[in-house]
Amino acid sequence: MDFSSKLLEQAVDEVSQLPGIGKRTALRLVLHLLKQPESQTVQLSEALLNLRKNIKLCENCFNISDTQLCEICANTSRNSEIVCVVEDIRDVMAIENTNQYRGLYHVLGGKISPMDGIGPSQLTIKPLIDKVQAGKVEELIFALSSTLEGDTTNFYIFKQIERLEVKTSTIARGISVGDELEYADEITLGRSITNRIPFENSLKN
Ligand SMILES: [Zn+2]
Repeated sequence: MDFSSKLLEQAVDEVSQLPGIGKRTALRLVLHLLKQPESQTVQLSEALLNLRKNIKLCENCFNISDTQLCEICANTSRNSEIVCVVEDIRDVMAIENTNQYRGLYHVLGGKISPMDGIGPSQLTIKPLIDKVQAGKVEELIFALSSTLEGDTTNFYIFKQIERLEVKTSTIARGISVGDELEYADEITLGRSITNRIPFENSLKN
């Protein structure tokens, strides 16, 4: 793409590094911003910078949070003995939207994926095992998407805690194999949490 302006080219280059955004889309977005009042660009940059500088991970569940303890973990009316294991904040948001779950979460930050060079140590698996070992968890619900990586991750964690005093379950698969949690509709996802099944049963099929 030939630009007559270095400044424009630079902005397009930056925007096009975002996932799913090619050079053409980046150019359209940047030109759109240029047509809007300057204050809009300032607000956009400030919101992103602010997010970047001030965002934290909850010290208990590792969800993205504004405070040391996220709102969910800090809510004393929730059942802290039930912990739902998810990949990232999008899954937390999807499950929260169902209004069917009153336990806490544990956000792994990804899935084990040797192809992408992601091993157990890059995820928050260790703190999860520690939590279970400390006897703070009565039930662990595996809610990773049922892809090869999701299944591998579930099984890895399951093997680590198999002998400990904890009940394990997995969300019922109204959600078809390979579907990401965030795309499941609220009713289906809500039902699959309510009708969760013992994790061992999910290994047999
Ligand atoms: Zn939390």
